Amino acid sequence: MTERTPGLSTLAVHSGNDIDHGMLTHAKSLPIYQSSVFVYDSLAQLDEIAGHPDNYMYTRFGNPNPAALEQLIGDLEGGEAALFSATGMAAISAALLGNLSAGDHLVASRELYGTTQTLIEDDLARFGIRATLVDIRDLAAVQAAIQPTTRLIYTETASNPLVRLSDIPALAGLARAHGLKLLVDNSFLSPVLYRPLAEGADLVLHSTTKYISGHSDAMGGILVGDPEWVARARRYQITSGGSASPFESWLTFRGAKTLALRMRAHSANALALAETIERHPKVARVYYPGLASHPDHALARRMFRHGCSGMLSFTLDGGLAEADRLIRGLRRAVFAPSLAGVATSVSHPAKTSHRAQSAQALAALDIHDGTVRVSVGIEDVEDIVEDFQQALDQL
Ligand code: PLP
Repeated sequence: MTERTPGLSTLAVHSGNDIDHGMLTHAKSLPIYQSSVFVYDSLAQLDEIAGHPDNYMYTRFGNPNPAALEQLIGDLEGGEAALFSATGMAAISAALLGNLSAGDHLVASRELYGTTQTLIEDDLARFGIRATLVDIRDLAAVQAAIQPTTRLIYTETASNPLVRLSDIPALAGLARAHGLKLLVDNSFLSPVLYRPLAEGADLVLHSTTKYISGHSDAMGGILVGDPEWVARARRYQITSGGSASPFESWLTFRGAKTLALRMRAHSANALALAETIERHPKVARVYYPGLASHPDHALARRMFRHGCSGMLSFTLDGGLAEADRLIRGLRRAVFAPSLAGVATSVSHPAKTSHRAQSAQALAALDIHDGTVRVSVGIEDVEDIVEDFQQALDQL
């Protein structure tokens, strides 16, 4: 009988566990190699070991805990190579600064995570790497922005906070036709809900701080895909120093084992909450791609087969005062400007992630004073719905 290709839940539990080859103790759970350096018997042994990927010398160069995570997320995303970094921004910096040079150009979505946009517009520009930011859903605009020096198209599967989607298969086709790489930040979806490499992207990255670790207790970032791009990113990471610690890697590795279960719960809970909020008279607009009212609902149905993740936003008619009353009226959901943990949390984009943007820029993005973003957790759905219902009823 031919062996079945393991599913993502199986891979999440088993992949990477044997990175230390059951070295000394045969521990069932991968130990934490909390060591900055590794010891050798002799110069001859050092010569033998140096440069061999399964051996370790100094943790900035490599360590079994980040290596295990690279194996695991590489398998989940279906990529040939992976690099784990200290934060999502360290992974993005390694991907871009490790691979692009002065004179290169990239086309990027104009709705990127704010710090990514700053990196691209300010920091890359200082090194002579130029970018054109476009409406990534307008494929003609993407095509028109491509220049002879363009090397990369950069986007996020879903934008923050309105969960607007990028058509990854269409962008992959465009990139291929022009000999460019497509790099997708998939942090809002996770490989359980969407796998950009399988749809033609060349590279995928995550802030693993979000769904992959999932418990709001570890920072990290991962780049997966084209082995040459990943190798150059690794080289840059070693020189710039963005390597992850063994403990953060271990926490992320442990969190990732339940990724498939969590993503199903986040998605089901978010859909139920979105449907409830949409019916409330105080709510002007809800953004959740699982709702028929979302502008990218048809694309979501085409791209996501197992749910639309746990991120949604809604706008209250009553502006800032009502948003503030809602946030204070919630009994379980906490106000925290990050996302994707097991506990439901809310954020206020105009005051947090998009604080630096002008009133006109926010209005153009459809982000208002009354807009609240929800990262729906994995609590019992009745409790989440009740919490928002009572907070909305008090407005
Ligand atoms: N990409 C996205 C979509 C994010 O939301 C974030 C952080 O919020 C990042 C990248 C950066 O990740 P980190 O905060 O782990 O550096």
